[in-house]
Amino acid sequence: MYLVGAGPGDPDLLTLRAINVLKKAGVIVYDRLANPEILAYAPEDAERIYVGKRPGQSSISQQQINRILISKANDGKIVVRLKGGDPFVFGRGGEECVALAGKKILFEIVPGISSALAAPAYAGIPLTHRNVARSFTVVTGYTKNEEDLFRNWEHIAHSDTLVILMGMKNLKKIINQLKLFGRTGDTPVAIVEKATSRHQRTVTGTLNNITEKAAYLSSPATIVIGELAEFANTLAWRTEPVNFGQESITELRQAISG
Ligand code: SAH
Repeated sequence: MYLVGAGPGDPDLLTLRAINVLKKAGVIVYDRLANPEILAYAPEDAERIYVGKRPGQSSISQQQINRILISKANDGKIVVRLKGGDPFVFGRGGEECVALAGKKILFEIVPGISSALAAPAYAGIPLTHRNVARSFTVVTGYTKNEEDLFRNWEHIAHSDTLVILMGMKNLKKIINQLKLFGRTGDTPVAIVEKATSRHQRTVTGTLNNITEKAAYLSSPATIVIGELAEFANTLAWRTEPVNFGQESITELRQAISG
């Protein structure tokens, strides 16, 4: 049984290990994938089980997912559990491992490139920089119980570079909380939507104006806050992505300048 990180979207960012494991998969259990092409690496006759959210239907519970993994592994199948980004970064991969270990099912983790790293990279934002940022923090912008959302944020708010995943719904609240904890309104912010895909867009601003400027963005998006976020204005290297047509480049340029 393999718990495999599928990376942030672009199939080129899969690891060799992920591809090798997918090639021998008997069963693939996956959520909504940033890029369905990734499944094409698996044998045609491999069973594909979708366990993500479906519009209008209640989503499959974590317990049900665990049961599927356990029963398929017990059937002697090579099971690949595919997860976006890295399986141990907000992917509930740990919970699945606990369930497998509880049933004495052997597993291997294949790390993936997390969007926490890929989104800033693809927007031209270094996470650390000599004399500017010596650390970065990755934090969730969403919790099931709202009262947990800003736990420990008196420290988190002052990270050199703050990377927030799942933060779009609570963007306003997050900005307010950062200001309450003393981050100034002119702190640079960049939001990278659909990073590494051909629809990637970046919006830059400050704590004061980002909510307004990013109003049209949707998920999945990664929020980067701190002095280095400003680099997205100068180091946005992805204006001529190798595999994309002229049309999307123009679109991308407009999105960035708008
Ligand atoms: N395990 C995943 C994260 C799961 S949480 C990983 O390591 O990347 C889901 C959140 O990841 C989204 O809400 C968004 O904040 C971020 N995300 C995932 N894919 C993204 C992408 N292509 N571009 C920007 N952010 C992305």
